[in-house]
Amino acid sequence: MRHSVSREWLPPATWGTADRFYSCSFFFSLCVTPTDCTRAEIGATTSIFPFTEASSRYLKATRREQAATDARLFQNFPGAGSAEDAFFRFKADEGAQYDEVIEINLSELEPHINGPFTPDLSTPLSKFKETVKAEEWPEKLSAGLIGSCTNSSYEDMTRVESMVKAAEEAGLKPAADFYITPGSEQIRATLERDGTLETFTEAGGIVLSNACGPCIGQWKRHDGVEKGTLNAIFTSYNRNFRGRNDGNPDTMNFLASPEIVTAMAFAGSTTFNPMTDSLTTPDGKEFRFPAPHGLEGPQTPFEEGKDALKVLSQPPNANVEVAISPSSQRLALLEPFDAFPSSDLSGLRVLVKITGKCTTDTISAAGPWLKYKGHLPNISTNTLNTAFNAATGEVNVAYDLDGSQHTIPDLARKWKDEGRPWLVVGEHNYGEGSAREHAALQPRFLGARIIVCKSFARIHETNLKKQGVVPLTFAEEKDYDLIDAGDEVDTVGLYEMLQNGGQGEVSLRVRKKDTGKEVLIPTKHAVSKDQALFILAGSALNLLSKGI
Ligand code: SF4
Repeated sequence: MRHSVSREWLPPATWGTADRFYSCSFFFSLCVTPTDCTRAEIGATTSIFPFTEASSRYLKATRREQAATDARLFQNFPGAGSAEDAFFRFKADEGAQYDEVIEINLSELEPHINGPFTPDLSTPLSKFKETVKAEEWPEKLSAGLIGSCTNSSYEDMTRVESMVKAAEEAGLKPAADFYITPGSEQIRATLERDGTLETFTEAGGIVLSNACGPCIGQWKRHDGVEKGTLNAIFTSYNRNFRGRNDGNPDTMNFLASPEIVTAMAFAGSTTFNPMTDSLTTPDGKEFRFPAPHGLEGPQTPFEEGKDALKVLSQPPNANVEVAISPSSQRLALLEPFDAFPSSDLSGLRVLVKITGKCTTDTISAAGPWLKYKGHLPNISTNTLNTAFNAATGEVNVAYDLDGSQHTIPDLARKWKDEGRPWLVVGEHNYGEGSAREHAALQPRFLGARIIVCKSFARIHETNLKKQGVVPLTFAEEKDYDLIDAGDEVDTVGLYEMLQNGGQGEVSLRVRKKDTGKEVLIPTKHAVSKDQALFILAGSALNLLSKGI
């Protein structure tokens, strides 16, 4: 369980019965955390919780009462649940075996704060102050940001509202900038109708648009922090990779629940613990945040929001011509990628060997680059521009075969223009992060045919295959040391494996750039039958456009 779903200050739940106590949106947070854009890299593909009374209430509040009625019918199915169960309850298969079982005692669970620069560095709230001091992280908090796809449910926001109201009544305002990002138009409109957003803005909070917003770097800071200045922000978002949120590699983003972020924003300090510490009110009194309380859902159904933001669907019309200005910097037609050759790949060159973390933000940075998402040539200018060169430790530096120095995307584009296909060598969890398709599209556009690394993040590995790039992992991790930038690479067995629907072994024959010596590196792959067809066609789109 992570920061984003922590239920601090809730009455303790009874062991093993959390599903009876918690709301549908709580389970949504719990499900989205391991499986969506957020934590897919840990390998989770599905999260399941029982259908409960809370699920029924949520469906009703979102005008889907019939779905709740239909779900209830299942309770009478044989094996659907015991007679004591009030609702249809999923049951584990008798004797089911699991790879791993994690037991969480919610009564003992403490809020955690994750970061900086990775969601995986977790510190319990009670230890955070001493960690900040020991690590010499900034003690001043520059901004607190709540909301996002995961943490802007009615319950989350009304719990925060209770805290803001209590602080306001004590005469307190947030000491740091305080931003709120509704995760959808429905929740924004409902929170506006019910006065919650007004509570935030009256306290000095700024309500941003219903979008990924600061989570993906689309946010204008107002606190005057210059790029290159070490500073700390707290967010209830899901990502905190270096440079992601505001393009400043020295911004430390700490992830916590909306309640903890809000408390920190009022304190303006990273060392505040709302469970034990007090703030001083303008009239000199001590103020301690009361336990947050909120409503599971609105008293009346959710607002649908502005008509203009509703999804319209029309049958496709193949005769409609998409007209794009040839001088547009924001839009460009996507040209189909070349099909895979009728042979193994030969003469590839290693563009760069990367060391350390290489997330989808490293491969395709967000923030100001997002305006080029519809223009693949332009956005490709950022490809791998924060990656660390394993040979030199430099960031965004690659060397051509003649030793001349380039940025990584510049050298990639040069090799594309010269007709020289290339590959990238990486370490663990390559492509960690979101489902960002551009992290696969851009290398493909610039001429990448293979990414070989110690391990992949699951979604990125799939995205590469969809764009016709072959993801391989070293059969022996130590073979990472055998291949370097500039080396020439042929594949052995790749074409046959693709033709056999993903069956077969693939090796890389590597000729060292400096000595010409050859070494054969065995690899592993996870190419399925469908994915083999994507790669052979050049991309999934190529294949789908043929109507196959
Ligand atoms: S970018 Fe952030 S807010 Fe947007 S879907 Fe991904 S995790 Fe959620």
